[in-house]
Amino acid sequence: MNPAVRIDSETGLKIFNTRAAKASEKITGKGYSVVADQKLTELPKMPAGATFNAEEQAKYRAFKEARRGAADYMAMEGAFKKYLDDVYSEPPIPREALDDECEILVVGAGFGGLLLWQKLSEAGFTNVRFCEKGGDVGGTWYWNRYPGIACDVESYSYLPLLDETGYVPSMKFASGFEILEHCQRMAERFGFYDHCLFHTTVEATTWDEASGRWIVQTDRGDKMRARFVILANGILTTPKLARIPGMAKFLGESFHTSRWNYNIDLSGKRVGIIGTGATAVQAIPELAKVVGQLYVFQRTPSSIDVRDQRATTEEERTTWAKEPGWARSRRARFAKISEVRAAVLANDDYLAGKIQDFKERKKHDRELTREELMQKQLDSSFRLMEQIRARVDAIVKDPKTAAALKPYYPYGCKRPTFHDEYLPTFNLPHVHLVDTAPRGVSEINERGVVHEGVEYPLDVLIYATGFQWMGTSTFNRIRGRSGRTLTEKWETEGARTFLGLHTRGFPNLFIVTGPQGGGGSFNFTDVIYAHADYLIWMMQTMRERGASVVDVRKEPEDKYAEHCRDVDIATAPLRDCISYYNGEGRAAPGSLAYYGGRQWDKFRMEAQSSLEPYVFGGDLN
Ligand SMILES: Cc1cc2nc3c(=O)[nH]c(=O)nc-3n(C[C@H](O)[C@H](O)[C@H](O)COP(=O)(O)OP(=O)(O)OC[C@H]3O[C@@H](n4cnc5c(N)ncnc54)[C@H](O)[C@@H]3O)c2cc1C
Repeated sequence: MNPAVRIDSETGLKIFNTRAAKASEKITGKGYSVVADQKLTELPKMPAGATFNAEEQAKYRAFKEARRGAADYMAMEGAFKKYLDDVYSEPPIPREALDDECEILVVGAGFGGLLLWQKLSEAGFTNVRFCEKGGDVGGTWYWNRYPGIACDVESYSYLPLLDETGYVPSMKFASGFEILEHCQRMAERFGFYDHCLFHTTVEATTWDEASGRWIVQTDRGDKMRARFVILANGILTTPKLARIPGMAKFLGESFHTSRWNYNIDLSGKRVGIIGTGATAVQAIPELAKVVGQLYVFQRTPSSIDVRDQRATTEEERTTWAKEPGWARSRRARFAKISEVRAAVLANDDYLAGKIQDFKERKKHDRELTREELMQKQLDSSFRLMEQIRARVDAIVKDPKTAAALKPYYPYGCKRPTFHDEYLPTFNLPHVHLVDTAPRGVSEINERGVVHEGVEYPLDVLIYATGFQWMGTSTFNRIRGRSGRTLTEKWETEGARTFLGLHTRGFPNLFIVTGPQGGGGSFNFTDVIYAHADYLIWMMQTMRERGASVVDVRKEPEDKYAEHCRDVDIATAPLRDCISYYNGEGRAAPGSLAYYGGRQWDKFRMEAQSSLEPYVFGGDLN
């Protein structure tokens, strides 16, 4: 029993101080600094005559087909469960198991949870409890603390609640550590800590029809009842491992990038890193500054675009201090840019509202057909990828290494990355690219990694093998009206939601940024805001109607799922590669991220004005 328990006078809920103390301060590579060498910060000119002709298309196809089926990921279970340990916090603070009731229970204390709390409390919904697996707030930015970590979407548009907290990020692309501090700032400012149970993992969520409540069970022995459950448990939360024969045999130190173990001193060591996705691209330049020998095991290269990093200027600070709502307006302008690259390298004058548009628009004599538009997009993606490939040749000196670092797929098909130090790192004598294309590393033994008969002895092995995308372990532990789990429903019927937020048969359950609800926007914060606003509207509507239960009807859910499928198929050529976005080529169209752009808003607005998709029930008592 924790003596520091208090009772909330307004809600009667018990309040515990479960925020854990930091376990370690030994952090290196705190962020991503500005690169002075201009040659490294620009893309080479567009190669003359670059066209996405039959030969180039065949090259892309071969690149893709050679990798089909190569991705074999596994969950961290059994001997690998240790990779999930929370290395950032002291052990959990003891507290009693809870057997009580709250109005709203939210899973997760990342951007989603934090923003929901600010909005819910502002709207007068204070009987809210949060459960968070980690020892503090931050979510993605709590778990990911690898050296070099930074956001890829400009921090002025990505960090939530900048206007409300008065905070201005120090860099255009803030480090993950700065983002974590901002999460703590948001939590402190809005009283979040009093509402959250840290080191508490929700293990089962079961709908009880008789009481119209969800029964929520946790790994701390809690059995709580809640009228509403909101899943804000993230879309890149559950780390995964590539399944490689012999990996349990390795006798050196090892960890996954999402649990960076700063207690292992890497200086002067032989270090291997498996994976070259977005995390590895940020971590590798920092690792190279510390380790003795670095072996980078790559199956598929990332596209390495320029970073455009810069410090926030004094002029910006002064202007924003006099402009209430500057961040909200900037995010709204940012959201109007629909191409990922245009957004990342977005014109500051446009984002600051000094000019009206971010690019010159070409006028066409007539409206382009869907096919013409697609072809135009594929051609410009090809030209950009040619520049990205030319950048590799311009920077990386060894031709064999340069050839292996060149990606052949449409821009943005795999998560695009942005870095000015990554490619030059491969010119360093102690950094070795081990090209394991197209099938990946073949074996791990007691001493290190083995590929094609060559052994690479290592002291430390780092898995940069990413996360499950749009799938969380909670989905198969949520039992709705029929007794089926959410995973079982989606396995039998295909992913089926309304707006990504509701799924029929799971009343009063809301999923934030999950399948069909998010992910098509590259600024997740936008999606989180849109979902939070929608949920406030839903709660208020139910209050006004005196309803205690909401579910959705079959027809609108089917129609929305069909729409998700159609837009995914229609835009699929732009994402024609094997990537986590499409479940490594195995996901049914429309079942994961949402690619319908602003049509989500159209569906939402129609639903909000007609209320036709909803089935309201129960008495609010
Ligand atoms: C390295 C990295 C960099 C990224 N960079 C960007 C970027 O630049 N721009 C961008 O738009 N997006 C980026 N993203 C995506 C990022 O995840 C989102 O932007 C955003 O932070 C998600 O917030 P969230 O609150 O929805 O989820 P999360 O931040 O994932 O938080 C979810 C929380 O739920 C908790 N949780 C999960 N299951 C349970 C359970 N059963 N019980 C209790 N707690 C649970 C988790 O511990 C976690 O703390 C990045 C992701 C990663 C991994």
